[in-house]
Amino acid sequence: MARSLVRSNRHFKQALTRLPLGVTSNFRYWGEDKTIYVDHGKGGRLWDIDGNEYVDYRLGYGPCILGYADERVDEAARQGMEIGGVFALSTELEYKVAERISKMVPAAELVRFSNSGTEAVMAALRLARAYTGKDSYVMVEGGYHGIWDAVAWYTPMKNWDPSQGDPEVAPMSAGIPALVRELLHMVPLNDANRVEELFKARGHEIGAFLIEPMMGNCGSITATRQYLHDVNELCQRHDVIMIVDEVKTGFRVARGGIQQLMGFKADICTFAKAMGNGYPIAAVAGREDIMRMIGDEVLHGGTFTCHSVAIAAADKTLEILDETPALQTIEDYGLRLQQGLSQILDDQGIAHSFVGHPSMGGLFLSDEPPTTYRDWAKTDYTFYEALAPELHDRGIICEPDSREPLFICEAHDQSCLDVTLDAFEQAIEATIDALGDRTHDATG
Ligand code: PLP
Repeated sequence: MARSLVRSNRHFKQALTRLPLGVTSNFRYWGEDKTIYVDHGKGGRLWDIDGNEYVDYRLGYGPCILGYADERVDEAARQGMEIGGVFALSTELEYKVAERISKMVPAAELVRFSNSGTEAVMAALRLARAYTGKDSYVMVEGGYHGIWDAVAWYTPMKNWDPSQGDPEVAPMSAGIPALVRELLHMVPLNDANRVEELFKARGHEIGAFLIEPMMGNCGSITATRQYLHDVNELCQRHDVIMIVDEVKTGFRVARGGIQQLMGFKADICTFAKAMGNGYPIAAVAGREDIMRMIGDEVLHGGTFTCHSVAIAAADKTLEILDETPALQTIEDYGLRLQQGLSQILDDQGIAHSFVGHPSMGGLFLSDEPPTTYRDWAKTDYTFYEALAPELHDRGIICEPDSREPLFICEAHDQSCLDVTLDAFEQAIEATIDALGDRTHDATG
C-alpha cells in the first residue's frame, strides 16, 4: 500500500545537486526514495508535494505545540513583521515575554533569548563555566543538546558489552576536536551514586551538570524525581551548576516544564521548541546571580536574536499555553492515543510500554519500560523500524528512529485519532506479515 512519492523522488534528485543529502538537516534525509518534501502543514497534519496527507507526530521534533499554521500565533507573527525585523536594538516585547517565562518557570529569574536550542545550551554552559571558574562538565547518556562540539558526543550502544564497564563516548560527527573530550564526563541516568563518586573525585574541575531529565531524543526515558533531587543537592554541595535542558519539555509537559512535574529548580535552564510554536526562538534562563554575569563578564548576543516576528510568536504561544487549557487538551489526546495503540498491540500479543509524558510519549516494544539509555539498547527495535515505514505509507508520520517520542499538538483531534488508530492496526498487521516468525522474538 505504498504512497506515490514521484514528485518528492524527482525533487530529491534535483535538490541533491545543490544541497548535501538534498535537505537542510541530516535528520530530514530518509533515504533516496523515501525523503519527502512538504507542501504545507495545517493543524496536526501535513501534506507532501505528491499530495499525500499525514497526521504528524513529529511536529518538527516538537516545536509545533498548538498545530501548524495556528491562526492566533500567525496573526501575532504578522504584527511582529510590521515592527521591522532586527535592529541591533531591543523592543519592549522582550521584557513582556521574559516576565511570562519567569512566572511560568520559577527557576527562570532572569532570561536571555536565543535563536535555537543549540545556542541556548551554548550560553548555559558558558555561564556555568564563567560562574564556577571550572571548565569540565557532565552529560548524561542518551541526552541530546544540539549540534555543537561540546555536546555532540554520545555512547554508541551497538557493540557495547556491559561486562567491559561503561560504554565508549564518541563524537557524533567528524570534525569535532578530540581535545573537547578531555573536558567531558558521561554518566548513566538515574544513578546518583555515580554522580557523587565523580564529584568527589573531580568536582574541583567540574563546572556544569547538563541534563535533559525527560530525554526527548531517547524515547522520553525520564529521570526519577529522587535522582533529580539528589543530583540537585550534589551540585550545590560541589559548586557545580545544574543546567536543565528543557528545549523539548519546556512549556510542553507542564506550564513550568519538567521542573514543575518533578518539583525542583535548576540553576540554569534552556528552552526552545514549544515556546514559539515553530518560529525560531529559544531562551536561556536561571538564577539571578548567574545570569547577571551576562554583560559583566559573559558574552551573549547574536544578530538575529529576538527577531520581531519570533518574539511576537513566542508572546502569543506562551499566552495560550499559560492561560488556556491547551496543555490539558494535548495531554488528554496523548493518553487516548496511548490507550488506542495499547489496545491494538495487546490484541496482537505484542509486549509494550509507554515512557515519559503523554504529550511526548515514547513507545517501547518491551514489557519493562527502560530507565536508562543502556536499557533502551537492550530492547529490540527491529519491529519498530519495520513498522515506521508502514505507518508513513498509511499517512502517519512518526520518526523512523525509535528514540524519538510521539509529539502531540493542540490541533490533534478525534479525526486525527481515528485515522491514526486505523492506520496503526493495518501497519502492525503488515509488519507482522513482513517479519513473519521473527515478530514475537523481536518484540520480546
Ligand atoms: N536540547 C534538546 C533537549 C533538544 O531536543 C534539542 C533539539 O532537538 C536541542 C537542545 C538543540 O536544539 P536546536 O535543534 O533548536 O538547535
